[in-house]
Amino acid sequence: MLNDLVSLFYPRNCVCCHQTLNKGEQDCCVMCLTELPRTNFSNFDDNPVAKLFWGRIELTFGFSVYHFEKGGKLQSLMHSLKYKGKTQIGEFLGRAIGNELNNSGKASKIDLILPIPLHPKKERLRGYNQSDYLAKGIHEVTAIPYASNVVRRTMHTTSQTRKAKFDRWKNVSSIFEIHKPEQVNGKRILVVDDVTTTGSTLESCARELLNHQAAAVAVTVVASSV
Ligand SMILES: [Zn+2]
Repeated sequence: MLNDLVSLFYPRNCVCCHQTLNKGEQDCCVMCLTELPRTNFSNFDDNPVAKLFWGRIELTFGFSVYHFEKGGKLQSLMHSLKYKGKTQIGEFLGRAIGNELNNSGKASKIDLILPIPLHPKKERLRGYNQSDYLAKGIHEVTAIPYASNVVRRTMHTTSQTRKAKFDRWKNVSSIFEIHKPEQVNGKRILVVDDVTTTGSTLESCARELLNHQAAAVAVTVVASSV
Protein backbone atom coordinates (compact mmCIF):
# COMPACT_ATOMS: atom_id res chain seq x y z
CA MET A 1 0.00 0.00 0.00
CA LEU A 2 2.70 2.45 1.00
CA ASN A 3 4.79 1.32 -1.97
CA ASP A 4 1.82 1.91 -4.29
CA LEU A 5 1.43 5.42 -2.93
CA VAL A 6 5.12 6.13 -3.24
CA SER A 7 5.22 4.96 -6.87
CA LEU A 8 2.11 7.02 -7.63
CA PHE A 9 3.88 10.20 -6.61
CA TYR A 10 7.40 9.14 -7.51
CA PRO A 11 7.12 6.78 -10.50
CA ARG A 12 10.09 4.46 -10.60
CA ASN A 13 11.79 4.04 -13.96
CA CYS A 14 13.86 1.29 -15.54
CA VAL A 15 17.56 2.24 -15.40
CA CYS A 16 18.00 0.83 -18.90
CA CYS A 17 14.99 2.00 -20.96
CA HIS A 18 13.58 4.64 -18.54
CA GLN A 19 10.02 3.25 -18.90
CA THR A 20 7.92 3.18 -15.73
CA LEU A 21 8.54 0.00 -13.76
CA ASN A 22 5.65 -2.37 -13.07
CA LYS A 23 4.83 -3.70 -9.64
CA GLY A 24 7.37 -6.33 -8.66
CA GLU A 25 10.04 -4.95 -10.98
CA GLN A 26 13.14 -3.46 -9.40
CA ASP A 27 15.58 -1.09 -11.11
CA CYS A 28 15.45 -2.88 -14.44
CA CYS A 29 12.25 -3.96 -16.23
CA VAL A 30 11.62 -7.59 -17.21
CA MET A 31 11.86 -6.68 -20.90
CA CYS A 32 15.36 -5.22 -20.52
CA LEU A 33 16.48 -8.05 -18.25
CA THR A 34 15.70 -10.64 -20.92
CA GLU A 35 17.67 -8.58 -23.44
CA LEU A 36 20.87 -8.44 -21.37
CA PRO A 37 23.55 -10.36 -23.33
CA ARG A 38 24.36 -13.44 -21.24
CA THR A 39 27.60 -15.30 -21.94
CA ASN A 40 26.76 -18.76 -20.55
CA PHE A 41 30.53 -18.93 -19.77
CA SER A 42 30.03 -20.45 -16.31
CA ASN A 43 29.19 -23.81 -17.94
CA PHE A 44 32.52 -24.04 -19.79
CA ASP A 45 35.98 -24.39 -18.22
CA ASP A 46 37.61 -23.22 -21.45
CA ASN A 47 35.51 -20.06 -21.85
CA PRO A 48 37.17 -16.83 -23.12
CA VAL A 49 37.45 -15.27 -19.62
CA ALA A 50 39.11 -18.38 -18.14
CA LYS A 51 41.43 -18.49 -21.16
CA LEU A 52 42.66 -14.94 -20.45
CA PHE A 53 44.61 -16.40 -17.52
CA TRP A 54 46.00 -19.50 -19.19
CA GLY A 55 49.79 -19.46 -19.03
CA ARG A 56 49.70 -16.54 -16.58
CA ILE A 57 48.27 -17.90 -13.35
CA GLU A 58 46.43 -21.05 -12.28
CA LEU A 59 42.82 -20.38 -11.28
CA THR A 60 40.07 -22.77 -10.20
CA PHE A 61 37.73 -21.14 -12.73
CA GLY A 62 36.89 -17.79 -14.31
CA PHE A 63 33.75 -16.49 -15.99
CA SER A 64 31.63 -13.44 -16.74
CA VAL A 65 27.83 -13.43 -16.70
CA TYR A 66 27.33 -10.88 -19.49
CA HIS A 67 29.05 -9.57 -22.60
CA PHE A 68 30.05 -5.93 -22.29
CA GLU A 69 28.71 -3.99 -25.25
CA LYS A 70 29.39 -0.27 -25.60
CA GLY A 71 26.13 1.68 -25.51
CA GLY A 72 24.20 -1.44 -24.54
CA LYS A 73 21.71 -1.89 -21.73
CA LEU A 74 24.28 -3.45 -19.46
CA GLN A 75 26.43 -0.33 -19.75
CA SER A 76 23.49 1.76 -18.44
CA LEU A 77 23.15 -0.60 -15.49
CA MET A 78 26.87 -0.45 -14.71
CA HIS A 79 26.89 3.32 -15.04
CA SER A 80 24.00 3.69 -12.58
CA LEU A 81 25.79 1.35 -10.18
CA LYS A 82 29.13 3.16 -10.34
CA TYR A 83 28.18 6.81 -10.65
CA LYS A 84 24.58 7.27 -9.52
CA GLY A 85 24.68 5.58 -6.15
CA LYS A 86 22.35 2.78 -7.27
CA THR A 87 24.01 0.18 -5.08
CA GLN A 88 20.96 -2.10 -5.25
CA ILE A 89 21.95 -2.76 -8.88
CA GLY A 90 25.20 -4.20 -7.55
CA GLU A 91 23.29 -6.62 -5.35
CA PHE A 92 21.01 -7.52 -8.24
CA LEU A 93 23.98 -8.24 -10.55
CA GLY A 94 25.71 -10.09 -7.69
CA ARG A 95 22.67 -12.37 -7.38
CA ALA A 96 22.96 -13.08 -11.12
CA ILE A 97 26.58 -14.21 -10.54
CA GLY A 98 25.50 -16.21 -7.47
CA ASN A 99 22.81 -18.06 -9.42
CA GLU A 100 25.38 -19.09 -12.02
CA LEU A 101 27.74 -20.28 -9.25
CA ASN A 102 24.92 -22.41 -7.83
CA ASN A 103 23.70 -23.76 -11.18
CA SER A 104 27.18 -24.70 -12.43
CA GLY A 105 28.16 -26.40 -9.15
CA LYS A 106 31.00 -23.91 -8.66
CA ALA A 107 29.67 -22.47 -5.40
CA SER A 108 30.85 -25.58 -3.50
CA LYS A 109 34.43 -24.80 -4.56
CA ILE A 110 34.56 -21.46 -2.71
CA ASP A 111 35.08 -20.60 0.99
CA LEU A 112 35.30 -16.82 0.83
CA ILE A 113 34.30 -14.02 -1.58
CA LEU A 114 36.60 -10.99 -1.84
CA PRO A 115 35.53 -7.92 -3.83
CA ILE A 116 38.30 -6.11 -5.73
CA PRO A 117 38.94 -2.95 -3.70
CA LEU A 118 39.02 0.55 -5.12
CA HIS A 119 41.84 2.86 -4.20
CA PRO A 120 40.85 4.41 -0.82
CA LYS A 121 40.83 7.93 -2.33
CA LYS A 122 38.51 6.82 -5.13
CA GLU A 123 36.22 5.05 -2.67
CA ARG A 124 36.02 8.17 -0.51
CA LEU A 125 34.99 10.22 -3.54
CA ARG A 126 32.38 7.71 -4.68
CA GLY A 127 31.24 6.88 -1.17
CA TYR A 128 31.24 3.13 -1.78
CA ASN A 129 32.90 0.31 -3.67
CA GLN A 130 30.49 -1.16 -6.23
CA SER A 131 32.20 -4.57 -5.98
CA ASP A 132 31.22 -4.80 -2.29
CA TYR A 133 27.59 -4.89 -3.42
CA LEU A 134 28.33 -7.56 -6.01
CA ALA A 135 29.86 -9.68 -3.22
CA LYS A 136 26.81 -9.04 -1.04
CA GLY A 137 24.48 -10.16 -3.84
CA ILE A 138 26.49 -13.36 -4.41
CA HIS A 139 26.33 -14.04 -0.68
CA GLU A 140 22.53 -13.60 -0.69
CA VAL A 141 22.00 -16.56 -3.04
CA THR A 142 24.99 -18.81 -2.22
CA ALA A 143 25.43 -18.13 1.55
CA ILE A 144 29.21 -18.00 0.96
CA PRO A 145 30.74 -15.41 3.33
CA TYR A 146 32.33 -12.27 1.91
CA ALA A 147 34.73 -9.73 3.38
CA SER A 148 35.82 -6.23 2.44
CA ASN A 149 39.09 -4.93 3.85
CA VAL A 150 41.02 -8.20 3.52
CA VAL A 151 42.69 -6.86 0.37
CA ARG A 152 43.70 -3.24 -0.06
CA ARG A 153 44.66 -1.22 -3.08
CA THR A 154 47.99 0.48 -2.64
CA MET A 155 48.25 2.95 -5.50
CA HIS A 156 46.40 4.77 -8.25
CA THR A 157 46.52 3.11 -11.65
CA THR A 158 45.35 6.08 -13.72
CA SER A 159 48.84 7.27 -14.65
CA GLN A 160 49.74 3.86 -16.04
CA THR A 161 48.97 4.76 -19.63
CA ARG A 162 51.93 7.11 -19.74
CA LYS A 163 54.37 4.53 -18.47
CA ALA A 164 56.44 2.06 -20.41
CA LYS A 165 55.09 -1.43 -20.81
CA PHE A 166 57.50 -3.01 -18.34
CA ASP A 167 56.79 -0.37 -15.70
CA ARG A 168 53.10 -0.87 -16.22
CA TRP A 169 53.46 -4.59 -15.57
CA LYS A 170 55.41 -3.81 -12.41
CA ASN A 171 52.67 -1.41 -11.30
CA VAL A 172 49.85 -3.83 -11.87
CA SER A 173 51.69 -6.58 -10.04
CA SER A 174 51.99 -4.47 -6.91
CA ILE A 175 48.68 -2.61 -6.66
CA PHE A 176 47.25 -4.88 -3.97
CA GLU A 177 48.34 -5.77 -0.48
CA ILE A 178 46.81 -8.33 1.85
CA HIS A 179 45.67 -6.51 4.94
CA LYS A 180 44.38 -9.56 6.84
CA PRO A 181 46.54 -12.55 5.77
CA GLU A 182 45.03 -14.81 8.45
CA GLN A 183 41.69 -14.64 6.59
CA VAL A 184 43.32 -15.77 3.32
CA ASN A 185 45.47 -18.64 4.60
CA GLY A 186 44.16 -22.03 3.43
CA LYS A 187 40.97 -20.59 1.90
CA ARG A 188 39.51 -21.18 -1.56
CA ILE A 189 38.82 -17.61 -2.63
CA LEU A 190 36.57 -16.04 -5.26
CA VAL A 191 37.69 -12.59 -6.43
CA VAL A 192 34.87 -10.39 -7.79
CA ASP A 193 35.02 -7.33 -10.03
CA ASP A 194 32.53 -5.50 -12.26
CA VAL A 195 34.28 -5.62 -15.64
CA THR A 196 37.39 -7.17 -17.15
CA THR A 197 39.13 -6.60 -20.44
CA THR A 198 42.65 -8.00 -20.15
CA GLY A 199 42.34 -9.74 -16.79
CA SER A 200 45.45 -8.01 -15.41
CA THR A 201 43.80 -6.45 -12.33
CA LEU A 202 42.23 -9.78 -11.35
CA GLU A 203 45.51 -11.56 -12.06
CA SER A 204 47.41 -9.18 -9.82
CA CYS A 205 44.97 -9.66 -6.95
CA ALA A 206 44.90 -13.46 -7.39
CA ARG A 207 48.71 -13.58 -7.38
CA GLU A 208 48.88 -11.62 -4.13
CA LEU A 209 46.34 -14.00 -2.53
CA LEU A 210 48.28 -17.09 -3.64
CA ASN A 211 51.48 -15.48 -2.28
CA HIS A 212 49.67 -15.34 1.05
CA GLN A 213 48.83 -19.05 1.12
CA ALA A 214 45.33 -19.00 -0.32
CA ALA A 215 44.49 -22.65 -1.11
CA ALA A 216 43.04 -21.69 -4.51
CA VAL A 217 41.71 -18.63 -6.33
CA ALA A 218 38.86 -18.24 -8.83
CA VAL A 219 37.60 -15.07 -10.51
CA THR A 220 34.24 -13.79 -11.70
CA VAL A 221 32.99 -10.54 -13.19
CA VAL A 222 29.63 -9.14 -14.21
CA ALA A 223 30.79 -8.37 -17.74
CA SER A 224 33.72 -9.02 -20.01
CA SER A 225 34.71 -7.60 -23.38
CA VAL A 226 36.16 -10.93 -24.55
ZN1 LIG B 1 13.68 -1.42 -19.25
